[in-house]
Amino acid sequence: MKKGIILKALSGFYYVEDLQTKELIQCRSRGLFRKKKITPLVGDSVHFTVEPDGNGYVMEILNRKNELVRPPIANVDLALVVFSVKEPDFSPKLLDRFLAVIEANQIEPIIVLTKMDLLTSEEQSLIAPIIQYYREIGYQVIETSSKQQFGLDGIKDLIRNQIVVICGQSGVGKSSLLNSMDQTLNIQVNEISKALGRGKHTTRHVELHKLSDGLIADTPGFSSLDLDQLEPNDLSECFVEFYQRSQDCKFRGCLHVNEPRCAVKEAVEVGEILPTRYENYLQFLTEIKSRKPKY
Ligand code: GDP
Ligand code: ZN
Repeated sequence: MKKGIILKALSGFYYVEDLQTKELIQCRSRGLFRKKKITPLVGDSVHFTVEPDGNGYVMEILNRKNELVRPPIANVDLALVVFSVKEPDFSPKLLDRFLAVIEANQIEPIIVLTKMDLLTSEEQSLIAPIIQYYREIGYQVIETSSKQQFGLDGIKDLIRNQIVVICGQSGVGKSSLLNSMDQTLNIQVNEISKALGRGKHTTRHVELHKLSDGLIADTPGFSSLDLDQLEPNDLSECFVEFYQRSQDCKFRGCLHVNEPRCAVKEAVEVGEILPTRYENYLQFLTEIKSRKPKY
């Protein structure tokens, strides 16, 4: 049996790239996995056959590393979290929200800052310590400008052999970024909300595009709603620098709010934790606690 990866799913067909020949084979699904009600997803590694009449069939889906709902893609390795430093302004709150949700999905986030060319040197010195902070807590932060074509090689190096989703608000420069990395790509990163806005029955297909030996989704991932999936205790695990310190909190399961001898609060007080990180954490926690119980 041949081995491949599903790059596109559309109208009951799966477009599988043959790992050996790199050919794209149109397949239907026929394997035993259908009894278990598993549907093939873009990103799946599969076994498939091609019959003498040329029809391809997906026979087996190999174990998934993970599975995203939005966009529906399996085996995601990296998330490019794209923020413009200006137009629209950089938002630490939205960044922390994306980071928390991506951490919760156990995907590695890479922070990509766009439109660096728009900053004055004064604005640059204001944002530099914030960038530094995110680097210190362990995130890769790549500063780019599609207009001046810098920072792009750093991203290319990271996405080699990875399945990548891109996320970020509309207008931050996601499409420009991808197209600057590969002029032949010419893709528009489609916002799901817009696509769905056209009518309830509009379904958009998801496709993985080849980019610098990696595979990148043309549909942006995650949304602010995804915080709903988390429990209060999970949230602190999604703030990496809080999680590292939580072993030193007096109470197991400390939520770092009003508990005595809390290592996280102490670190905030001495300035080791960025105040906006803690404020955002508290706000997300309140949001999670006040959501309606699930039935
Ligand atoms: P998307 O909605 O995230 O895909 O954003 P687009 O790639 O469509 O870009 C939105 C706007 O920002 C467009 O007008 C781009 O020309 C502009 N833009 C994108 N990247 C840069 C950049 O690096 N510098 C500047 N100055 N403008 C940019
Ligand atoms: Zn604590």
